[in-house]
Amino acid sequence: MGRASPGCQSALVSMIPHSFLQDLLNRVDIVDVVGRYVQLKKGGANFMGLCPFHNEKSPSFTVSPTKQFYHCFGCGAHGTAIGFLMEHAGLTFPEAVNELAQSVGLTVPQEPSSMRGGGGGTGAGGGFAPAVSKAVTTALSDVMQTACDYYRKQLRSATNAIQYLKKRGLTGEIAARFGLGYAPDGWQNLETAFTNYRDDALVEAGLVIVSEKQDAQGQARRYDRFRDRVMFPIRNVKGQVIGFGGRVLDGGEPKYLNSPETPLFNKGSELYGLFEARLAIREQRYVLVVEGYMDVVALAQLGFQNAVATLGTACTPIHVQKLMRQTDTVIFSFDGDAAGRRAARRALDACLPHAADNRTIRFLFLPPEHDPDSYVREFGTEAFSEQVERAMPLSQFMLNEVLADKELDQPEGRARALFDAKPLLQALPANALRAQIMHMFADRLDVPFEEVAALCEVDARIAQAARRAPARKDRHLVTGIERKALRNLVMHPRIVVQLGEEAEQALIGLTRHGELFEEVTTHARALGESAEFQLLSDLLRNGANAATFEEIFREILDYDENVRDLLMKNPEDGSAVEERREQERLVSEELTAAILKMRYDACCERLDALSRQSRHTPEELAELMSLNQTRADMKRQLGL
Ligand SMILES: [Zn+2]
Repeated sequence: MGRASPGCQSALVSMIPHSFLQDLLNRVDIVDVVGRYVQLKKGGANFMGLCPFHNEKSPSFTVSPTKQFYHCFGCGAHGTAIGFLMEHAGLTFPEAVNELAQSVGLTVPQEPSSMRGGGGGTGAGGGFAPAVSKAVTTALSDVMQTACDYYRKQLRSATNAIQYLKKRGLTGEIAARFGLGYAPDGWQNLETAFTNYRDDALVEAGLVIVSEKQDAQGQARRYDRFRDRVMFPIRNVKGQVIGFGGRVLDGGEPKYLNSPETPLFNKGSELYGLFEARLAIREQRYVLVVEGYMDVVALAQLGFQNAVATLGTACTPIHVQKLMRQTDTVIFSFDGDAAGRRAARRALDACLPHAADNRTIRFLFLPPEHDPDSYVREFGTEAFSEQVERAMPLSQFMLNEVLADKELDQPEGRARALFDAKPLLQALPANALRAQIMHMFADRLDVPFEEVAALCEVDARIAQAARRAPARKDRHLVTGIERKALRNLVMHPRIVVQLGEEAEQALIGLTRHGELFEEVTTHARALGESAEFQLLSDLLRNGANAATFEEIFREILDYDENVRDLLMKNPEDGSAVEERREQERLVSEELTAAILKMRYDACCERLDALSRQSRHTPEELAELMSLNQTRADMKRQLGL
């Protein structure tokens, strides 16, 4: 159950206090936020427009100013202003919150530690730059832009660099589109670009390095990090320059040099070319992930403008999440050599937690002697498009990885394959795809499906639920109750506050998906009396179980009445408030009954187990008696 994806996502979210998020959403106007990207027209109490998330000719995209919520009746997209910036502008949760906060003059407070699981998440590798004051990031941003302008200007007169780019087939137009520049040879060229070369911001931005040697005045010497390199500015999704990649012109080393990690630039979460590729990704409906920035630029030149690259690091789950905000289809293209294979494997691992049933993840392996750029040059765009279409599905790649080099006709080989499959299967969400992949393993290894599930410690029941279309009565009755309880809680999070400790513990401890309940109740408690579906759904879709919750949201929004509540009813309207209270009371009662039923089922199960034993310890006998009593009580309460 997505356990392999680090809990960092929910930890990150929790670093921003829920009360601040609520305050923030009260202050911003979603109509303004959405209106910056979508032309909205007033229609009744709400605003309507053409949905930016799917192609349509007549508007089914609705924005409610009173509920501060958007919903598309065509494709089901929905969320708050935070969710909109994430989905549409491709920002991460903290980025979206930051942007909104800035727009209304608020500073985002950070809680020192996460809700649970410890770990804080502010450390290195957390994928999210720790809280840095706006003044600092603005100063660094300015520094980067100045450097970028300087490098671009230098390119104009750098015949050797122009020669190199021309040799790679790039036109001036493409070079300008990606803001390519040139860092001339020499140690302190940036002195001419900045009034104060000793400004520490230049060091912090990674442009200047402080030497251990001292100059004539006894000060530490400083020198430019990038010298005699073609410069590729790395932009964030807002288009700001946050780092540089520099490539040597000749055989020098290192071939590629990137900006170091700075408060602006985090390699584990940024993708080169995403800003430039955003529109093309939407149009082409897929993103192509390649190995280097030269590939990105060269592919854009050749007509594939939807390519991005990681920045000298392996692909991380944060990268994948960022891409999945732009499109449902991600194609990785790796060089055919051993290094390419290794990179592909790392990408596979990063993708597994995000492999939802409605997403496509494929891996394109080019012949060993080719990279995408050289392939397109030799065989043409059509041939490359064909390769993209025929790229290997995630399931097949995963199967190959697990089965390769194993003697499957020997028990040892099959056991080893199961051993290797275990972490991969566990990393996948509990969905139909996982069930399908488990069937493939079962077939290839010639072991029963249940055995694959048991040996890999993957919950076969969930997998089976996905496999068998019509629900069978026994276990699925429980699933039904659980699902409904979860749906009710997500739609009416305020009832969590009214729920007793015992009931909450029952939901977490007795259900098969306790972690889902825990996620919802933790958020709902933090949101308190004013907890609402709107913000809760944005928070949940940002956690480790996003794919599961997305299904729950769909179910909730399938009810017209729910959508009407979320979009139409004015919260100030007295009768609407009354109606809502009544609804919450009903749901709360239903939930209490469901919890009682779950506890009853658990009690029966334990009794069954005990009564199947031929001998009992005195403690077990006592438990048996007390359970019998409890069961009788609960049976009466349930009216069974
Ligand atoms: Zn839509």
